[in-house]
Amino acid sequence: MTMLEKSRIVTMDKITALSKRRGFVFPGSDIYGGLANTWDYGPLGVELKRNVQHLWWRRFVHQRRDIIGLDAAILMNSRVWEASGHIEGFNDPLVDCRTCKSRFRADHLIEERLGQQVEGASPDEMSKIIREAGLKCPVCGNATLTDARQFNMMFRTVIGPLEETGTEVFLRPETAQAMFVQFKNILATGRVKVPFGIAQIGKVFRNEITPGNFIFRLLEFEQMEIEYFVKPDEAAEAFETWLIDMQAWLSEIGIRDEFVRLREHDADELSHYSSRTVDFEYQFPGAMGWRELYGLANRTDFDLTRHQAFSGEDLHYFDQAENRKYVPYVIEPTFGVDRTCLTLLIDAYDEEATVDVNGKPETRVVLRFHPRVAPYKAAVLPLLKKDELVHLAKRLFTNLNERSSVLIDYDETGNIGKRYRRQDEIGTPFCFTIDFDTIEDDTVTVRHRDDMSQERLPMNAVSEWLDERLT
Ligand code: ATP
Repeated sequence: MTMLEKSRIVTMDKITALSKRRGFVFPGSDIYGGLANTWDYGPLGVELKRNVQHLWWRRFVHQRRDIIGLDAAILMNSRVWEASGHIEGFNDPLVDCRTCKSRFRADHLIEERLGQQVEGASPDEMSKIIREAGLKCPVCGNATLTDARQFNMMFRTVIGPLEETGTEVFLRPETAQAMFVQFKNILATGRVKVPFGIAQIGKVFRNEITPGNFIFRLLEFEQMEIEYFVKPDEAAEAFETWLIDMQAWLSEIGIRDEFVRLREHDADELSHYSSRTVDFEYQFPGAMGWRELYGLANRTDFDLTRHQAFSGEDLHYFDQAENRKYVPYVIEPTFGVDRTCLTLLIDAYDEEATVDVNGKPETRVVLRFHPRVAPYKAAVLPLLKKDELVHLAKRLFTNLNERSSVLIDYDETGNIGKRYRRQDEIGTPFCFTIDFDTIEDDTVTVRHRDDMSQERLPMNAVSEWLDERLT
């Protein structure tokens, strides 16, 4: 554990508790006792998540001329998953405990217990390692683990009223495939030239054996993915450019780079479609440690070639400048939405010893979100719930709401110190407070979340002041 990690105040428990307390993320189906590993984004969580998606779309689609969007169906023809290799190869190696019936991922168990990286090893190889090391069940402690066997992670369902006569389909486990399947239609619209990318944000489903760690590993989650099509001999260079773009994205949303590192996959760890993969890892608190946040892969021409073979359609690209046909290579940056939200919460979390309005010591919890991702960009607060103050505060609130596209909060309940603490805890960067001086001179107090400093500003300058800080 590094010094930096030791001095961290944040824990997964604190983030989970704050998320529930303040309405970022609730346990799914909560009043029915929940459904393991499902979570619902509450009023603040949905704003955080939408900000992430909106910023991503803006940065990678709207602000670039070489990337266009797609929003494909979750259900696809099952042949897609045969071509992609998911039916045959999207498996997790599983071991069961014969005594307590707990179920684990063999590779995770080996990594955790023996510190050995075995991603990509066969079930037989993993069974051998487990046997030879005499690994015991982490739950009941008995040496009664079964051999490892493969378990397909795709969720299955049936189209049609009868299970027996219906068509078996899968809920997509990644958004990527639709972008390959629609490659021909996108080319046919005639407005793209290699290099170009297709971007998509959407829900995906994976029957994970060992989900957990709050919203880190979910059964259903969202991905933001780009398939970037390049000339085969330019793939290596495009890969390097994407590494830089992905890093730039992380700093734009305010994630501190001291908790981020890049990890190159070893040759035996690479997925079947990849010739090079680099994971962006984030140092999650406590026992979690370094885990994958995002991935960047060189998928070569694997997917288009396979879809060409399985569908019978010609998926070559005709390069006019070079007067030749080729199947483009694909560089794939992939970003998990939920892991982004979790990382933002963790990275922003801070506690500070301070004093309350009566001078009593207290701990101030503050989410130091970058204003770009903060659910509320500002809050308007009348100092007291007095008609003349409330009237002015509501006027400012309405005015800000009409003029800007960002979300502003309004709060008149409880004492002002408590209201500031609430805004700190949900990460609102600025508060505009209407007090008795406002009545006299038309100015408001601006209170800054990060250092609690205050300044005064003319009421009619507030909107522009806020715009400047958000752009
Ligand atoms: P892991 O090794 O953690 O299982 P992966 O390598 O299978 O992840 P990819 O298939 O590359 O992940 O998925 C792309 C991105 O989707 C990941 O970088 C991550 O941000 C996110 N992701 C993957 N699995 C999950 C999950 N079960 N819950 C939430 N997000 C996920």
